[in-house]
Amino acid sequence: MSNTSQDFSGPLGLIKKWGTKWSLWPVHLVTACCGVELAHAYASGYDGERLGSLNYGISRQTNLIIVEGAISRKMARVLKITYEQMPDPKFVIVMGACGLKGGLFWNGYHMVRPSDVVPVDFFIPGCPPTPESLLRAIRELQEKIMKGESRNTIEFERCDISAEGRSCRALAPSSPKYLAPTPSIAVDVPKEVEWEFGAKLVEELRSELDGLYDQITITGKNRIAIRTCRRRISAIASKLCSKFDHVKNVNVIDLPHENSFIVEYQVSSYSVRDLMPVVVNIFARIPRDNPRFPSLRSFWESADYMEREMHEFFGVWFEGNPAMGERFLLAPDTPDYPLRKDRKVVEERYVEG
Ligand code: SF4
Repeated sequence: MSNTSQDFSGPLGLIKKWGTKWSLWPVHLVTACCGVELAHAYASGYDGERLGSLNYGISRQTNLIIVEGAISRKMARVLKITYEQMPDPKFVIVMGACGLKGGLFWNGYHMVRPSDVVPVDFFIPGCPPTPESLLRAIRELQEKIMKGESRNTIEFERCDISAEGRSCRALAPSSPKYLAPTPSIAVDVPKEVEWEFGAKLVEELRSELDGLYDQITITGKNRIAIRTCRRRISAIASKLCSKFDHVKNVNVIDLPHENSFIVEYQVSSYSVRDLMPVVVNIFARIPRDNPRFPSLRSFWESADYMEREMHEFFGVWFEGNPAMGERFLLAPDTPDYPLRKDRKVVEERYVEG
């Protein structure tokens, strides 16, 4: 397969260009929230199909990748493989601030600029960019194809996308001027809200969980927080798991200033109608230098993968979860516990080489 401007030369060049211009078929590769704007651009309101552009499911029959926002290091491999599978001529549009420079994940351990992985024809700034701007990029790409200036005349240097081999040209940010010595993380600040059902529910919980909690508070409409300790949290889970039948989130909050982590389970109900809108946050502090916590997967199955995720990100060891110590979501060469606040970003990555 050739990847040069000569693809469009010769007597049939004009017809080839015209055909390509009106047959830009983007492969389905939704990488982030910009994908919603892409869907919008191709839905009935903007009707991207009228430009001859139609999303398609199989990379070998497509000729355009629209990178929809953030590309993580793990996803970078997928982007690369997808690109390699597509036949020439092929094009790339990158949409969203995340795809340009990392956007709101800038300086994150996991971000890769798509332009480090594949050659890019157009960047669309914005967070997210509008459907109009995506359609504009497609029109511009069509013009470029007709003028014979399309990306396949660009020299692309293959690069290593591993952590060590990343080519980064941006300068490092200045370090923060001020770091609050003890940032206050409030997960159980009571709120005065008119919620009669909540007040009754809190009373019920207090009597049902007697001796197992430190504090139960209403933190907002439909929101209840239960503060406890790691020793008692399994007993609370065993009492609540029949009504609150699933875990929505398992979170870890890193408090390096206080040498502790807060581990929280947000649970709710699919089976009790009145409890469906209610989210109960059960949380406990654990020492950061001995981050062990009982796994609650035997009470809530959905806690399993979230515990694995938190283990990988923060190094909390969920006792009883058999996947501890394994890699699950992170790319194999990602450093350990990348979301710990004291993990240093390697500055050299941001200095012109
Ligand atoms: S640019 Fe904004 S909308 Fe797009 S992926 Fe990033 S955060 Fe999401």
